[in-house]
Amino acid sequence: MVQVIDAHKSFGAFEILKGINLSVNKGQIVAIIGPSGSGKSTLLRSINHLEALNKGEVWVDGIQVNRPLTGHAFEQHINSVRQRMGMVFQHFNLFPHMTVGENVTVGPIKLRKMPAARARDLAMELLGKVGLQDKYDAYPSRLSGGQKQRVAIARALAMEPSVMLFDEATSALDPELVDEVNLVMKQLASEHMTMIIVTHEMRFASEVADRVLFMDGGIVVEEGPPSEIFSNPRMDRTRTFLKKHL
Ligand code: ATP
Ligand code: MG
Repeated sequence: MVQVIDAHKSFGAFEILKGINLSVNKGQIVAIIGPSGSGKSTLLRSINHLEALNKGEVWVDGIQVNRPLTGHAFEQHINSVRQRMGMVFQHFNLFPHMTVGENVTVGPIKLRKMPAARARDLAMELLGKVGLQDKYDAYPSRLSGGQKQRVAIARALAMEPSVMLFDEATSALDPELVDEVNLVMKQLASEHMTMIIVTHEMRFASEVADRVLFMDGGIVVEEGPPSEIFSNPRMDRTRTFLKKHL
């Protein structure tokens, strides 16, 4: 489903990803944890090519994301393969000049060439799923952070992606709004959505993930089921990190 092979990424003289390997099967939920600056966001952004790797390969659904194409051919390729990945960022990134409904339908209409009426039905269904059907005509500025983030999830789902990528989806939210977003993610998990979740919430990671990756200094230091990583980590670096964050 998603495969990252020997991913290297540098910014200037700094190597941020130093050979990451990651394989996520259909229906699996992988949580990525690790200290600030360890490369978690860079890895996630490399998966849908918001960052271009210096070396290594990313595959989604058997298609190489970073194919060695150039110019228009690459643009066409990347636009199409990106539709397989839904990404949710820390800061909502809704289109402020569009209503909630327009935010959710614009992708299906423009990119998937879906008729407007069908896109509306789909958006209504997805907004229902995140508990926001009544906000269809509202503008993002009228929503709480938790509501905005749930719309962002519905918008990503509207592309019917094969994998969802979450980068600290709740870390910009007021504490009382975190649960409503986590609940939506848990619901997706129970429906066997394939997900890669960067999070600093260890409890959430342990509840939702099949596998946890601990990153530090641009490498995967340790990975395993949450029961192992959180209760019985093998590496000192993992232990030190968890002592501070559990
Ligand atoms: P956090 O938990 O704080 O979100 P992270 O693990 O997501 O951290 P990254 O955002 O991947 O870390 O950043 C890793 C390192 O790469 C940091 O030192 C950061 O400053 C650097 N970095 C990230 N993006 C860029 C960029 N576009 N240009 C230069 N340096 C960058
Ligand atoms: Mg980050």
